[in-house]
Amino acid sequence: MDEMGEKPLHKLFQTQLRDSGSHPDAVELLSEPQREVIVHFPVRLADGTKRLFKGYRVQHNNTLGPYKGGLRFSSIVYLDEVKALAGWMSVKCALQNLPYGGAKGGIKMDPSDYSIEDRCRIAQAFCRAIRRDIGAMLDVPAPDMGTNSLIMDAMVDAYNESLVTRDVAVFTGKSVGRGGSAGRTEATGAGVVTCIKLHAERHHLTLEGSTYIIQGFGNVGSNTALLLSRLGFSCVGVGDHTGYIVSSEGFNVHRLAEYVKRNGGVSGYPAGDPVDKAAFFSLEVDYVIPAALELQIDEATARTMRCNSIFEAANGPVDPAAERLLQDRGTLVYPDVLVNSGGVVVSFYEWRQNLQFERMSKEDVEEKLTAAMGTAFHSVVDRADKDGITLRQAAFRIAIERICPAL
Ligand code: NAD
Repeated sequence: MDEMGEKPLHKLFQTQLRDSGSHPDAVELLSEPQREVIVHFPVRLADGTKRLFKGYRVQHNNTLGPYKGGLRFSSIVYLDEVKALAGWMSVKCALQNLPYGGAKGGIKMDPSDYSIEDRCRIAQAFCRAIRRDIGAMLDVPAPDMGTNSLIMDAMVDAYNESLVTRDVAVFTGKSVGRGGSAGRTEATGAGVVTCIKLHAERHHLTLEGSTYIIQGFGNVGSNTALLLSRLGFSCVGVGDHTGYIVSSEGFNVHRLAEYVKRNGGVSGYPAGDPVDKAAFFSLEVDYVIPAALELQIDEATARTMRCNSIFEAANGPVDPAAERLLQDRGTLVYPDVLVNSGGVVVSFYEWRQNLQFERMSKEDVEEKLTAAMGTAFHSVVDRADKDGITLRQAAFRIAIERICPAL
């Protein structure tokens, strides 16, 4: 962590690249992004005040197709973080065999400080500032932390101001009525749940009654929990930026999701008991699902954890020292580039539907997503078994071989 409180996240990505044992030339090539765009742009807010914002778009690698990756609104967005997130997108897209490279973007601001109208204005001003750096065949942003389909719709409008024709394929994660795909909102959570189901199948585990804790109850966390409840899983702990709560009987995640929508976080939920973050992560459960932000599980936290496996729904939640310790203990860590790849898979379906003027049904999207997650999951697990390496090393190896086939 430096003096600004910024964690060296890009180093984590570079360590993972090196640890994959891939060809050194490929590791070198992918160790830095191809382009880093930083803009400062003014916005007139609804109350008449004018403010200057800072935005980032990092384009990591486009060997396999247009850059693709989310857009974050967060007070802690910084260049090093966006670089790492862009790199993970390249790996994720290649692992899923998508015709995309990797990118990521963000605006440094706390979305909870602004109304949805102001957030849309800020997003539109950012879109105008990076207008020449994005495009359906160049770089296709999507929602990530702090952004949603309304923000994407607003950006599509800003992008199209200077066009005679209408291009909606430049963003994914739009509202369904505005060119979005059925099933995109739930896609990342659905992909997480498919990975958990496949893990249970491979290890002959029963789903009904399995226990888990989940950190983050936003788009990814809440959709994962809602889908797990259909399989009979019991959510015994939830945490977010407002606090952590636990319940040995398990939470009603439908009610909890409603509460979080109304109140902005889990704090004050009238069931369960509040605990601190350390007590939360040390609960004895079958599964731990980090679905908030990066570097949440360090070596000290890992030492206290009592779970069979971890599914990284967030990007980069487990640091390398923690992963080594967990690995030595026989705790499986399913990596982000696999586990949360359902979002970009359905973003690809959305982009393709826009380009081909077609619509897929929700059932069709769900079926194809389940198949795509299954192919990626088994390829990673089989490769890890075959090469005697970790699941993350296997995922990186498969992806890097696709990006750099000649090496
Ligand atoms: P979101 O904004 O909808 O939710 C973020 C959640 O993280 C919230 O519950 C928030 O309270 C929690 N959080 C924020 N700061 C925290 C802190 N300091 N401590 C504990 N909790 C905190 O975002 P999301 O779209 O659900 O994304 C969550 C993670 O999943 C991110 O790592 C994101 O990059 C990753 N991801 C998202 C998608 C997607 O489709 N949205 C796809 C792939 C990966």
